[in-house]
Amino acid sequence: MTDMWVNETLYPFWGQRFGVTRELARAKSAFQDIAIFESEFHGRVMLLDGIVQITERDEFVYQEMLAHVPLLAHGDAKSVLIIGAGDGGVLRRVLMHPGVTKAVMVEIDGEVIRLSKEFLPNIGGDTWTDPRADVIVGDGIDYVRKAPDASFDVIIVDSTDPIGVGEVLFTDDFYSNCARILTGRGLIVNQCGVPFMQADELRETSARRRKFFPHVTAYVAAVPTYVGGYMTLGWAGKDPSLTTLPVATIAERAQAAGIAGTTEYWSPQVHVAAFWLPPYIARHLPG
Ligand code: SAM
Repeated sequence: MTDMWVNETLYPFWGQRFGVTRELARAKSAFQDIAIFESEFHGRVMLLDGIVQITERDEFVYQEMLAHVPLLAHGDAKSVLIIGAGDGGVLRRVLMHPGVTKAVMVEIDGEVIRLSKEFLPNIGGDTWTDPRADVIVGDGIDYVRKAPDASFDVIIVDSTDPIGVGEVLFTDDFYSNCARILTGRGLIVNQCGVPFMQADELRETSARRRKFFPHVTAYVAAVPTYVGGYMTLGWAGKDPSLTTLPVATIAERAQAAGIAGTTEYWSPQVHVAAFWLPPYIARHLPG
């Protein structure tokens, strides 16, 4: 048993704690407090402002669902924009898709990237040097404001919660620009919190996206260290058929892309089922 514990400070009345074997990094960047430590069960864990962002043990759930679901549903994504995601895990999953010719990642905090490369090498892997990757240190809102019309097929927002630096990524300004820079069948996904605990995040973000996109929904993933049951990943796009594709179509695309057999959470069946929401979650989506 350990005698050193780290408590997550997300909720004032409920939390989780990790038994720590070693602290690897602690830094105060211009944007947030960053901590990376090692625990026996979860492996390496990163916290931003005291909130768990990623653990080596369960990162596969969130990252696979955030990357493979939109790319395989789109079916022909060449150009992908990733906002946030400084640990590199989403970029790595996106670049597993051979059809992707360009992946731009815009992360506001260069310290998150630097510390992730040094202390979480298993998460980003060698993705950082992939010639298709363009990693930019900057604010996601500035990037989408300046990006040309119809320049991305898929946008993936892997941000912190809508407080502090992440707040701008949940605004009308952000979503209207995302709608503008997406191509015809383009779509955006973003983390929308754990609705059992943070229903406002899903409800407000979905209503906001509905102003700019005809089709708004969400899908779920059970990430053990995002406590409170299902995590929701918001979806907004123009083509509603992309969220109701049959298992066989998704399986064929995954086979062709070389994704089949590489995953631990995502599967064609999980992909399709993830859009069937329990009523306590579905009721927060616009009708
Ligand atoms: N997958 C984990 C999760 O959802 O909890 C990891 C999240 S990832 C590390 C969140 C990243 O979003 C952080 O590194 C943070 O610096 C970045 N971020 C927050 N606001 C941003 C903004 N306005 N523009 C770009 N990146 C931003």
